[in-house]
Amino acid sequence: MPYDPELRGNGCPVFKKCGGCQLQNLTYPEQLRYKQGRCIALLGRFAHVERIVGMDEPYHYRCKVQAGFARTRAGLVSGVFQSGSGRVVPVENCMIEDEVCSEAVAHVRDTMKELGIRPWDGRTGSVRHVLVRRGLYTGELMAVIVTQTRQLPSKNAFVRRLLERMPAITTVVQNVCADPLPLTLGRVNETLYGEGFIADELLGKTFRISPNSFYQVNPAMTGKLYQTALDFLDLRGSETLLDAYCGTGTIGVAASDAAGRLIGVELNADAVRDAKRNARVNGAENAEFFRGDAAAFMETMAVSGEKLDALVMDPPRAGSSARFIRAAVKAGPERIVYVSCEPETLARDLALFTKSGYRVRRIRPIDMFPHTNHCEVVASLTRDAASR
Ligand code: SAH
Repeated sequence: MPYDPELRGNGCPVFKKCGGCQLQNLTYPEQLRYKQGRCIALLGRFAHVERIVGMDEPYHYRCKVQAGFARTRAGLVSGVFQSGSGRVVPVENCMIEDEVCSEAVAHVRDTMKELGIRPWDGRTGSVRHVLVRRGLYTGELMAVIVTQTRQLPSKNAFVRRLLERMPAITTVVQNVCADPLPLTLGRVNETLYGEGFIADELLGKTFRISPNSFYQVNPAMTGKLYQTALDFLDLRGSETLLDAYCGTGTIGVAASDAAGRLIGVELNADAVRDAKRNARVNGAENAEFFRGDAAAFMETMAVSGEKLDALVMDPPRAGSSARFIRAAVKAGPERIVYVSCEPETLARDLALFTKSGYRVRRIRPIDMFPHTNHCEVVASLTRDAASR
């Protein structure tokens, strides 16, 4: 669909019911101005807020799509879980989902329909939701079928028919999850077809993505996000870099050529396994990854007096913790780059850093999530001369 900068709402028929795209009543340039203003209001007291980096084509950017299923009078439907009610709102042509991912969801639904496989309704049925991920640069496509129990009726026929319908699917995984919250994944994955993961490429590196690992949903913008983090880090080749909240190690591995030593820490065991593999396949021999709580790890590093020149941190929306920041200040890296997906918690955390001898140098918002009110921001800090 051609991008029309003056278009509001994009004619999305489920705008209000779905609730996913909170800013759809604004044109894209208006959305960018709104996000810029919000970042200035929250972060302007720390440093100049650079102009937000927007998307050229702000549609169909989500290469991670999750959909629920429901039986209606019109038959089996797929769509988003409405926040609050938890009901499934049927969605056919979502403007932010990658179209290949949407197509895979429709094929999963139609295959279920054909074989009489029922969605989990809270008491009976089996399939809770589907998660589809596509590697934008590799084209690899993963369908994760999330079931209430290990039972998936007509499992073999399901996989066979799904692949006949959509041969572009490179791997099918069954994930078992009894958690009552919608869209969560369980710990158990059974690979039904293919390798059980996909790969994608960013900044000349290859990354493996498993069903449970975090990976940015907008790969077209992720390269710009990571490049900003690397530019702000400004490594000279010999530094020891810590990648905290590293997920599958993507930022660290992308930076590893420019660092002397790379250490990564991450809570999720699957992500750490992927990070180790990502380091290996990209020839990052100077990298080590550890599973653990970032704050506890940082404290151990600070106490041991191990050398730390640069820190890149990319915590979830809740932000980092006072405990992590205290330990980071004690370890005393010259440079810190903070990648944030929530400007409010970033502001809270920057305030702690600036009270402890760090100065914010650059702040650049990046629009990873057009039409939603989420905003990604990269900030860089340096240690004040006085506190050295
Ligand atoms: N930098 C990565 C991942 C960022 S998402 C990327 O760009 O892909 C944030 C990550 O923080 C998630 O992988 C999550 O599992 C991890 N995480 C959350 N709390 C944590 C904690 N207390 N200690 C370490 N990692 C944590």
